[in-house]
Amino acid sequence: LTYYELRADYLVNEMVSLLTGEAKSKNVSISTDLAEVTVCWDEKKVKQILLNLMRNAFEAMPDGGDLSLKLQGSTTKGSVKIEVADNGTGMDSETLETIGRPFFTTKEGGTGLGLTLTKNLINQMNGYMEVTSRPGLGTVFTVVLPERLGG
Ligand code: ADP
Ligand code: MG
Repeated sequence: LTYYELRADYLVNEMVSLLTGEAKSKNVSISTDLAEVTVCWDEKKVKQILLNLMRNAFEAMPDGGDLSLKLQGSTTKGSVKIEVADNGTGMDSETLETIGRPFFTTKEGGTGLGLTLTKNLINQMNGYMEVTSRPGLGTVFTVVLPERLGG
């Protein structure tokens, strides 16, 4: 399977545009710091990953807040890093250890499948995800993906 080259920063900007209305209605301001990186990715997978992480960020900021997206490329390692950070509720260590387990949710009416799916997609692309979170301060999800290929 071959994937076409695309600009990762354009892809992130597309997702920001898609969610601008939702962000406004939720009093969330989105800021971006995006390097110009060309990648060879399955666009649909990465969009789904970003959508899940951005939606979770919104949901962690019920009274509004800041969502920031950062994109960095590394020519030496051949990998690309995407950070999705919010200044929402954050998570305690117990929650942090449990997220991503199928059906684990702390939300009323949550499916608890968003991060399971996200992790699967990242694995399929041979990448990995890291999370840091502080209760009451916010959360940063970091996704690292190889720059090229990855089904
Ligand atoms: P859902 O969104 O349906 O609850 P997810 O798998 O997307 O399922 O997330 C699982 C849980 O992880 C959430 O219920 C929440 O407790 C926690 N979580 C995920 N993202 C964040 C975030 N950005 N800030 C705080 N908690 C989060
Ligand atoms: Mg979710």
